[in-house]
Amino acid sequence: MTRTTREWQAADAAHFLHPFTDFQALAAKGSRIITRGEGIHIWDSEGQQILDAMSGLWCVNVGYGQQALVDAATEQMRTLPFYNSFFQTAHPAAIALAETLAELAPPGFQHVFYGSSGSESNDTVVRMVRRYWDIQGQPQRQILIGRHNGYHGSTMAGASLGGMAAMHAQGGLPIPGIAHIGQPHWHEHHRTPGTPEERAAFGLEAAGWLEAKIQELGPENVAAFIGEPVQGAGGVIIPPATYWPEIQRICDRHGILLVSDEVICGFGRTGQWFGCQTFGAKPDLITFAKGVTSGYVPLGGVLVGERVARALIERGGEFEHGYTYSGHPVACAVALANLRLIRERDLVRQVREDTGPYLAQAYAALADHPLVGHAETCGLMGALWLVRDKATLQPFGPEVGIGMACRAHCFGNGLIMRAVGDRMIIAPPLIITRAQIDELAARIRRCLDLTLEQAQ
Ligand code: PLP
Repeated sequence: MTRTTREWQAADAAHFLHPFTDFQALAAKGSRIITRGEGIHIWDSEGQQILDAMSGLWCVNVGYGQQALVDAATEQMRTLPFYNSFFQTAHPAAIALAETLAELAPPGFQHVFYGSSGSESNDTVVRMVRRYWDIQGQPQRQILIGRHNGYHGSTMAGASLGGMAAMHAQGGLPIPGIAHIGQPHWHEHHRTPGTPEERAAFGLEAAGWLEAKIQELGPENVAAFIGEPVQGAGGVIIPPATYWPEIQRICDRHGILLVSDEVICGFGRTGQWFGCQTFGAKPDLITFAKGVTSGYVPLGGVLVGERVARALIERGGEFEHGYTYSGHPVACAVALANLRLIRERDLVRQVREDTGPYLAQAYAALADHPLVGHAETCGLMGALWLVRDKATLQPFGPEVGIGMACRAHCFGNGLIMRAVGDRMIIAPPLIITRAQIDELAARIRRCLDLTLEQAQ
């Protein structure tokens, strides 16, 4: 259907309620209409090419236009577009994917429960950990602990596990049985860069907030702790290396289940198959979505470690939970093709040993920019913290809207970066090359220059 940009925008404003959007403000401005993608680039309806440094929404890890994924979907749709796995049936795509996931997961994960999104996966976690403690004869263990500024999705349970204040302010969240602790975000508490020793000590301090919360709630009431290895939507908050091992020790000490939300970090983003491997944690449950299919079709799920799996399988009876699209054949077929591609192109090692370190170098150079208070990366995730005064790390006030100003310059100059407050974040496709990282860094610098000019 060929329409002009204005026609698309009018139809959009008339009918489409976008997620996380101020509807009136968008209608006044008009959406940017994205019409196609190839590699790390997308194009809008005006024909402008844009470097998509956010991989869509942290998901298009193998980039746009991968024919192998298209072929896998087509073939599966032709053979068996849908069948369920509720009533003692299964199909090859879901079985083969479960097998592959067990192979790729850290040791001790042999089972998977499917959903269609990250939110559904985290909802499944709430039901599964509570069921686990029922089976263990400790039904009072109901409470899951998440973190302020963590993000675990947008359903009632997902939004409750997350710690986004703006989400909690709408609709009576969090639901009962969810508690939160602070995030391991150095600059939330400090106006200095911090020495490695200071940051290491801060990691232990931040993990200690979990111990304190467990004591406050009573260890016998706590079911699980959930966290993202690197907080994505919160602004690419990379914890000190001391943090996750200490979280692990605390959970182990109290027998509390540890859940790693790998919806963003899974499938190579941090330079390992899963972020918990980068940060030295051994979770009981891993949630995933996005990168498992590179976003080509919706799929999510929970990798279930042996501790929980054995209880559910051997003593649990029927687990009263599931979705129509649990293990959707087309989604599973696309996931298999996607994971095959990641393996064939050795993308996880490439991120760990080549493009990740190369991006880190590019970001170290960007740290010199007068607007940048701090630049950091983990694998192929990056954050630039924009400050008013580089010497004192004095932040801009929220009224300046520095992040949104920078984002607008990016948008106008063929680059997608996301603004989270005063942090500019990226998570480019894992196929990005060194030359493309050079191009990305040059575009970022230009947009920072324009933002600085505007701010002065
Ligand atoms: N968990 C994390 C860490 C996420 O980043 C997201 C989405 O960005 C979700 C869960 C929710 O996933 P979905 O939007 O597929 O429901």
